[in-house]
Amino acid sequence: MSIAANALPAPVRGALDRLHEAGFEAWIVGGCVRDLLLGRVPTDYDITTSARPEQTKQVFAQERVVETGIRHGTVTVLLEGMPLEITTYRVDGSYSDARHPDRVTFTTSLQEDTARRDFTINAMAYAPGWGLRDGFGGQGDLSRRLIRAVGDPQRRFQEDALRVLRAVRFAAVLDFALEEETETAARQWAGRLREVSAERVFQELSKLLCGPGAGRVLRDYPDILGQVIPELLPMVGFEHRNRHHCYDVYTHTVVAVDHVPPRLPLRLAMLLHDVGKPETFSMGEDGQGHFYGHARRSEALTRQILTRLRAPKKLLEEVTALVRWHDVPLSEDPRQIRRWLNRLGPGRFLDLLEIQRGDAAGQAPAYCTRIDQANRLENLAREILAQAPCLTVRDLAVDGRDLLALGYRGPAIGAGLQAMLEQVLEGVLPNEKGPLLQWLREKDAKKAE
Ligand code: ATP
Ligand code: MG
Repeated sequence: MSIAANALPAPVRGALDRLHEAGFEAWIVGGCVRDLLLGRVPTDYDITTSARPEQTKQVFAQERVVETGIRHGTVTVLLEGMPLEITTYRVDGSYSDARHPDRVTFTTSLQEDTARRDFTINAMAYAPGWGLRDGFGGQGDLSRRLIRAVGDPQRRFQEDALRVLRAVRFAAVLDFALEEETETAARQWAGRLREVSAERVFQELSKLLCGPGAGRVLRDYPDILGQVIPELLPMVGFEHRNRHHCYDVYTHTVVAVDHVPPRLPLRLAMLLHDVGKPETFSMGEDGQGHFYGHARRSEALTRQILTRLRAPKKLLEEVTALVRWHDVPLSEDPRQIRRWLNRLGPGRFLDLLEIQRGDAAGQAPAYCTRIDQANRLENLAREILAQAPCLTVRDLAVDGRDLLALGYRGPAIGAGLQAMLEQVLEGVLPNEKGPLLQWLREKDAKKAE
């Protein structure tokens, strides 16, 4: 396991070189080193240096420098269009609120700087010519595929409860396991996740859900996930008592999450699609468990949960729509498909089919035929879309001006356009100006008689 000097982007090398030439120590550190060792493309590069923030600013005096976190020793330098966070070696003070260190102290020791970092695989530093600094066995844990806290896990999770969620986030994203003591401590301190800000929680949760190990992590750590979404806990072990299902509600959910593509709206919708089931359970006279109205209840809970987690508004709308419709029976009649394309928009309709496939994959094998149905619906929808269909009022071959010219005014214009769209969606009328206007005139003439 090693990093080739030419693996670093030119601006990163340039920044390290300039700090070195000015007489400072400087390294890339943390996630980017981990990712380079794994042969993954780092999302961003962090630099750690012995230079104090004012000294870093001097070294890059000719560049655009933003004091992003000067209190924590961080300045951001824009080099050849690439933003680089450069942070002075530091040790963190005590954490009285399980979130933010009360104060940070600069240090001259790289070893001390890496010791404050969360996991061994995130506590390595590298610089061309100087090589890799791995003070806590990060390389060994990378090859064993383990998430291990730096130092005493109990103390590290007590200092900052977000690390509990970060531990399972890295386990999901990298498909790693938690080292035993780290796991025990993570479970023990999970309760303090409730003190962590919603934004930080949501950021980690989002990455977790899109990782290749998401399903496994959800299955193994409902106790930890249940601290950030307590609504999940009643699902654990809740039996469907219904022949369509071979899993309890939580296990069904976990399997379904793993069966949708790793896009955040889909993964969130799958996680929450049945969250209303425990509250809506009833036992039928046929001896089968039923969950009447669960989609609406799940939708309401999803809205509550995502609002509490401060999810972006657009994402919230996407996810709640998918949860609301996840269970709706869809017909293969092209008119019905056009109606759904009109109601949800093409992108969201195709997402709904992903959700229905994921949902079906988590049911008893005999009911997985719904997967074939979703596949057929997708083909039909794509055929319809390939013909550049008329799906909204905007796509109509007529517009408001045509109706104005015919003497329509005010709300009658919108109503007229909508009525014509209905005819086109039903396949009764072609989307052509002449026939549309003629139909409208005749309809309104009849009404006036
Ligand atoms: P990603 O690839 O998702 O960005 P990352 O490891 O870079 O993962 P960041 O959140 O960007 O994660 O943090 C950068 C580095 O800062 C980490 O690798 C780790 O060394 C350190 N770090 C971040 N958050 C914490 C924390 N809560 N406690 C201790 N160290 C942390
Ligand atoms: Mg990062």
